[in-house]
Amino acid sequence: MLPSVFQKAANVISIIEDYSYEAYFVGGCVRDYIIGRPIHDIDIATSAVPSEIQRIFPKVIPVGLEHGTVIVRYQQESFEVTTYRTEGVYTDHRRPDEVHFVRHIKEDLGRRDFTMNAIAMNAKGEILDPFDGRKDIVRGQIQTVGNAKDRFNEDALRIIRALRFSSQLGFAIEEQTKAAMKSCKALIDKLAAERLTVELEKLCAGNYFAQAVDYIFELELDHHLPIFKEEAWQLKELAPVSSLAPVFAFIELNSSSITVTDCIKAYKCSNHLKQQANCLVNAYDSYKKNGLDAWFVYQLPKEQWDFFVYLVKQKDKESIDIETIRSIAEKLPILSKKDLCVNGYDLINWFPGRPKGKWIKELLTEIEYQIVMSKLANEKSRIKDWIQWNLPAQN
Ligand code: ATP
Ligand code: MG
Repeated sequence: MLPSVFQKAANVISIIEDYSYEAYFVGGCVRDYIIGRPIHDIDIATSAVPSEIQRIFPKVIPVGLEHGTVIVRYQQESFEVTTYRTEGVYTDHRRPDEVHFVRHIKEDLGRRDFTMNAIAMNAKGEILDPFDGRKDIVRGQIQTVGNAKDRFNEDALRIIRALRFSSQLGFAIEEQTKAAMKSCKALIDKLAAERLTVELEKLCAGNYFAQAVDYIFELELDHHLPIFKEEAWQLKELAPVSSLAPVFAFIELNSSSITVTDCIKAYKCSNHLKQQANCLVNAYDSYKKNGLDAWFVYQLPKEQWDFFVYLVKQKDKESIDIETIRSIAEKLPILSKKDLCVNGYDLINWFPGRPKGKWIKELLTEIEYQIVMSKLANEKSRIKDWIQWNLPAQN
């Protein structure tokens, strides 16, 4: 019997089969099932083309029709269903110029990157493994499907994917695959940054990151990784972490020239990630100046606590107990500006003679600081009193 994560998806496969098409589980879910790792998303490959899938299921979301991918909604869950396909030439080394739908699973498996990722499994749990992926899994080995040089020439992202799988799984890279990674490495320069970033994030999060870093140096791939090519030594100082925000913060703090902004630009990351990384850099500076005080904890969002602890550990080999941060957070008098019992209008009303200006914002921040640090009670009358003695001079 298949484990329960596959059950609903197995029904989707059976329904497709009822309409006389084929469908299989493919890719990471089959690989991880065989290895015994947790399965996070399930991909289905089918001989049916998207329009045929749309006729079978009432709810189908066409997410990538040109690549043959649709999302099938089935019993409140989503399943990615992709038509068997082969890929044409990659003239720009980025994306295939065209994809061709095919009717045989073996052709589809043949276009996949590594043997361990080219295994199919049917709804009964029976395995189809034309490239001996299971043998490589048992050996703990990453090997391309077909000639490694050809496969990396088609798509150089596979070089980075080999690294990230070695980082996630602790697998070794097979010798010919490794040699081809080295000889094709210059093609990495042509990859679209967004594709590289997805793999870099997974690479940095793998439990065997140090092993992947050894490969990076052995094959001199660091020369082709944006940012790291300038200060490759930083790679050796990093421990696995699940987000690029602490990685970029770490780089800025260690570097005299590279900033978070440079990293974000090089890897075309989101503004959100930029904010998170900058917040960590500021938190680190504040911690170094004033230690773990209430103002520090107030400014560090909860979802960044682990990353901050990681950053201090990596940077200074110092351990901070997250419980210390938690107990300070629990005692904070306010959680955000919104909790202040005065606002800009109060200040204007109290000092009608003063022209509006940046003093309002500065004074509010000072009040906020005093309250967070428990030097002033969050009560209107107390704040009004305090201001009498602390109103900044008019300039
Ligand atoms: P994860 O567990 O991280 O999702 P995955 O193996 O499922 O790993 P995906 O990036 O989700 O990786 O890709 C799904 C499958 O598509 C892979 O297992 C592989 O068969 C195929 N694939 C993905 N990217 C490529 C590529 N660049 N070249 C060839 N095949 C690829
Ligand atoms: Mg996947």
